[in-house]
Amino acid sequence: MEKIVSLCKRRGFIYQSSELYGGWNGFWDYGPNGAELKRNLRDTWWHAMTRFRDDVVGLDATIIMHPSIWKASGHVDTFNDPMCACKSCNKLVRADQAWSVLEETRWFASLAATFDPASTSCNEEKLRKWIPRDGSQHAPNLALIRDPDAAFGRIAARISSGAPLDVRDFVQTLATSDPASGWRTPCPHCGGELGDAKPFNLMLKTNTGPIASEENVSYLRPETAQAIFAQFKNVFDSSRVRVPFGIAQIGKAFRNEITPRNFTFRSREFEQMELEFFILPDEAVELICGSVLPFTEGMDLSEPKPNWGWEVWHRYWLKERTDYYRSIGLPTEVLDFYWQSEADLAHYARATVDILFQFPFGCEELEGIAARGNFDLSQHQTHSGKPLEIFDEELKAAAANLDEKQREDFIQKTHANRRKPETTIEETRAYCESLFQGCYIPHVIEPSAGLDRLALAILSNAFEEEKVTDAKGKEETRTVLHFHPRIAPVKCAVFPLLKNRPELVAEAKRITALLRRHMAVYYDESGAIGRRYRRQDEIGTPFCVTVDFDTVGENGPENQGTVTLRHRDSMEQTRVRVEDLIQILSAHLAP
Ligand code: ATP
Repeated sequence: MEKIVSLCKRRGFIYQSSELYGGWNGFWDYGPNGAELKRNLRDTWWHAMTRFRDDVVGLDATIIMHPSIWKASGHVDTFNDPMCACKSCNKLVRADQAWSVLEETRWFASLAATFDPASTSCNEEKLRKWIPRDGSQHAPNLALIRDPDAAFGRIAARISSGAPLDVRDFVQTLATSDPASGWRTPCPHCGGELGDAKPFNLMLKTNTGPIASEENVSYLRPETAQAIFAQFKNVFDSSRVRVPFGIAQIGKAFRNEITPRNFTFRSREFEQMELEFFILPDEAVELICGSVLPFTEGMDLSEPKPNWGWEVWHRYWLKERTDYYRSIGLPTEVLDFYWQSEADLAHYARATVDILFQFPFGCEELEGIAARGNFDLSQHQTHSGKPLEIFDEELKAAAANLDEKQREDFIQKTHANRRKPETTIEETRAYCESLFQGCYIPHVIEPSAGLDRLALAILSNAFEEEKVTDAKGKEETRTVLHFHPRIAPVKCAVFPLLKNRPELVAEAKRITALLRRHMAVYYDESGAIGRRYRRQDEIGTPFCVTVDFDTVGENGPENQGTVTLRHRDSMEQTRVRVEDLIQILSAHLAP
């Protein structure tokens, strides 16, 4: 990770925000190459999700919206992370991440190294040496340091109790002055005792209007999705779409993360790429098609069908998203899939699968794909008092074909399959009656990805330090980013072989101008050609074109009008005609 962070800074991909003033935790800026990389990723997502489809349209909504939206969505009341405060230094730590943050500290590693799980006593001698060395300096508030004898007494008591002791128990014992109040996790910053976890709302607040008061508190959106729900009706009424269809949005989101960490992975300001794909409720599909197609492993998901229910749509979007990642250079082999258990799922969610990537610091979420039922639109309908149901002529016509008995059977079946046991038969009846009239609130499948996490995954996946042998037989290390050409910040670099030969420079500049109309090109004339190649390898440029004496016909007419085209990954050089360049390069850039 350190190598990637350093390359990102050195080659203008990512810098710490406000570095001039010592940095600002949880915020990152994208430099010239990073801005291009991000733009390319954004474009590939937008193209895959909207332009290449008939059934998805776009939206670009504001970051600050009516605060009631966040009340309706549940963010005001429940968008919380558990947070602990250190009783000594008052610093805050996210409770569920306290151990992983702690385990990254140097003092924890050296303390843990004194622990021997096989031993029946703690190694007091080693610990006494640790105290003045690492301990007092980096964890001065650890209970062990404040009162070593009491800590040794606690360890002895815990060992003699016969209960198995692992390294976390060992560290907790050394960190806790009063076990009666519960074993404590030490503070990663000073070793002090962390207090009990309390919910902490992650939304960043601001005020709109000239007076800062409780009445005009507003929030920087913590996700882009809610704007899609809030504008659902407008989009539906103004864009000639029919369910099933989707609304896609890319934009900034803000979360006051308690412990931003792992470079850009967990930031306080980040960009999301979200799709809300609206589908018919399964009951409506059943009325129209007679039955709902169940999901089966290996089924054909290439073309959506009218009899798909939420489960097949959910699998379809998982396939679509996996195909997308493959198209930008993240094949299925570098991804992992985590299906949330019933216990993990939000109360309204039917299924959620997380697409994970093996980051240098562990396998972590890149994107979540959730089947959210009609929770969000229903909430906004209730809170706004405005109907968000839609009317479907085909549904009404299908229901009109049912006789009284068939309708009653349908109601009873729907009631028997209800998700919430507390739903009354009257509620089920009202819901079915509404379906018979052709009205329903659409359900939704939500693929939600983070652009910054994707950029980090792409950088980690592309990074390689390769041993190569140079022309003189000397071994050296080549740092290379194996970006897919579609997302590389620069697609092609153009070099004149020598910068003091005007005819070579003129031709290289002419070719640069020619290519520039089609792709991002970089002209470079300084330094030895090998050094220029290495510079481009480091920023992941897939192709380099060199204009030499053959190009300008100095070695005879045979190779006149040709250049060398150097391929980044194989380092192979081929001779191609200048007039074929655009076609050759474009073939690699097409989706
Ligand atoms: P996590 O569990 O990692 O906090 P989440 O499940 O809360 O993520 P969602 O609310 O589902 O995330 O957001 C969708 C996507 O937005 C995530 O998959 C991730 O790519 C991105 N994302 C969420 N929080 C952050 C953040 N703090 N920094 C960068 N990207 C983020």
